[in-house]
Amino acid sequence: MPQPVENMRIQFYGVQGSGSTFPSSREIEALQEYTEYQLLQRIFEDLSRHLDQNNALDRPLTDLIGGPIDRKTLTRYRKNFLIPKPRIYGGWTTCIHVETADGDDLVFDCGSGFRNCALDLQKKWGDRSERHLHIFGSHSHYDHAEGFDQAAVCFDPRNRIHVYGNYQFLHALDSYLGIFSKRVKKEILGVQTPINYSLMPAKFRAIEIRDHDPSAEFDAEETMTRDKHDIDQPLVLGATRITAVRVYHPAPCLAYKVERGGKTFIFCTDHELRHGPDPDDPRQKESEARERRLIQHALKADVLYRDAQYLRSDYDGLSGIGSSSPVGRVDWGHSCLEDVQAMALNCGVKSTYIGHHDPNRDWSELNWLDESMIRRCEGMDEKICLARAGTVIEL
Ligand SMILES: [Zn+2]
Ligand SMILES: [Zn+2]
Repeated sequence: MPQPVENMRIQFYGVQGSGSTFPSSREIEALQEYTEYQLLQRIFEDLSRHLDQNNALDRPLTDLIGGPIDRKTLTRYRKNFLIPKPRIYGGWTTCIHVETADGDDLVFDCGSGFRNCALDLQKKWGDRSERHLHIFGSHSHYDHAEGFDQAAVCFDPRNRIHVYGNYQFLHALDSYLGIFSKRVKKEILGVQTPINYSLMPAKFRAIEIRDHDPSAEFDAEETMTRDKHDIDQPLVLGATRITAVRVYHPAPCLAYKVERGGKTFIFCTDHELRHGPDPDDPRQKESEARERRLIQHALKADVLYRDAQYLRSDYDGLSGIGSSSPVGRVDWGHSCLEDVQAMALNCGVKSTYIGHHDPNRDWSELNWLDESMIRRCEGMDEKICLARAGTVIEL
């Protein structure tokens, strides 16, 4: 049985950007080599402590390892060496679960990580009759919604699923699944997925976060039923307050600030602090204004999850990511690692997890970036690292 939640428990189910990735066979071999090397080094260090003047062991090998060279002895001997586990990157696209001490379950984005999250929720809820899930969507892009039609929670008639987001996010889900309007246009039905509302017996409710953005105006023929909530008002669930913050991205996008018991978690994916050639470009001004607003919310936050898909050199088109060719990334909607590190330190954020990793960035580079950020923060109150799936944070 897991320990009861004291205030908030945050779990990362998916932190990849744009598409799911998993270590390639080459990367798995490299990880294996790394672990083998670490183990061999420790064993030889141990044995070399027992060399005599002639460089021979000063006692029988079986004495040193505690028995004959068999599986039982070697398993016991192996336990003498604590080998640091290699950091595994990659995995599913964006999905973060927050469980509160009130028993509320909040999910931020439904990328492909939502499938595993939903399995865990179903297991946790068991025979419980009160089964509410609160989903907060950032925006309509596929990598933030692709897990929805594979999530076990959608196929259980006992579940009530409250989906919060801007119009575009709700509309994107509804257009191909019809979960709010109970209809799908004939030309779209079954095109993207064989699943639709008629196969999803959970009860869905849409809550549109109105963001006063003129680009969020929609078709007058819209039939999607939904409640409306003003972006300037926080949403309240028990003792938890959730505030939506508009960020800068090619599709209208929301970050969320989650506050409970004096602790703050900021979920901010897909936001670009823009570096275009013209500082007076209105897009530049808008990006900077949204960054300033985000900074106000992130001041002294306890945990920040933020997208920084690019290094500045990738963004400027000076280097390719992994083995890909260099391409300028202005207006692709993602921030640079250097900017996010500076922002996190300036805001005095206690723990920053950088996510939305580019699928083309390979393990060794991610590992190197992670290591250099962790080392840079040694001895400081602020910690910055790359986000990895499976991370659990008690807040
Ligand atoms: Zn994305
Ligand atoms: Zn996006």
